[in-house]
Amino acid sequence: MRFDILTLFPGMFAGPFDESIIRRGVDKQLIDITIHNIRDWATDRHQTTDDAPYGGGAGMVMKVEPLAACIESVKASYPASTVVMTSPQGRRLTHQVASELAKRDGLIIVCGRYEGIDERLRTLCIEDDLSIGDFVLSGGEIAAMTVVDAVTRLIPGVLGSDESAENDSFGDGLLEYPQYTRPVEFRGLTVPDILLSGNHELIRKWRRRESLRKTRLLRPDLLAGRTLTSEDLKLLAELDREDAVTKG
Ligand code: SAH
Repeated sequence: MRFDILTLFPGMFAGPFDESIIRRGVDKQLIDITIHNIRDWATDRHQTTDDAPYGGGAGMVMKVEPLAACIESVKASYPASTVVMTSPQGRRLTHQVASELAKRDGLIIVCGRYEGIDERLRTLCIEDDLSIGDFVLSGGEIAAMTVVDAVTRLIPGVLGSDESAENDSFGDGLLEYPQYTRPVEFRGLTVPDILLSGNHELIRKWRRRESLRKTRLLRPDLLAGRTLTSEDLKLLAELDREDAVTKG
């Protein structure tokens, strides 16, 4: 999968893209990332990429011409890629959206800055609009990194088979069960016995139950719209009985 990122701050991507999972995806040639400096597409002598807003008011607005030229050039080379804008006004990035994006041939991700981008870019070039949450960042770069990271780990082959994304939170619509590693005891807190039992079926059941417990406690909204298996219903009933005993 290709990622083309359009930014005024190409230097920001160096660290996050040079390490760990994203680095591995690049090394295995499962993803290909190219950073484009929007400034290279400005045509005037001062390489202007922003200007004052029409109608007045604070801040600057990113100009449409350099962005349109850059997008059109990348799109001409990779017509199958989808042009995505990062924006707090976009549709919210979720696990489901990331899984859907992971099936695309490529993403051309536009990073805004300042007060945002001239609205005409949206009309002319933008096919999808993504927000990483209901807050305002200073620029689209960290949002673009978030999109690349969340999507890359869902591309088959990027994660090793021993670190599959299926068990991760949201992988099957629930939060992940609690995880432990050595030592068995730390400051009086011990690892649940079942995890040391070596009984895979009991461990699977325990994990499913704890996954349901966490989801019900922390994110009941995830359970609300779900059809539960008979095993899940049984495990939830067990949790109810446990709660009744602790409360009683
Ligand atoms: N004035 C704009 C915000 C501009 S913030 C508004 O109120 O809608 C500058 C840039 O940061 C945006 O163009 C976008 O690329 C990026 N950005 C800010 N918050 C974001 C978010 N929650 N998700 C994705 N991108 C965001």
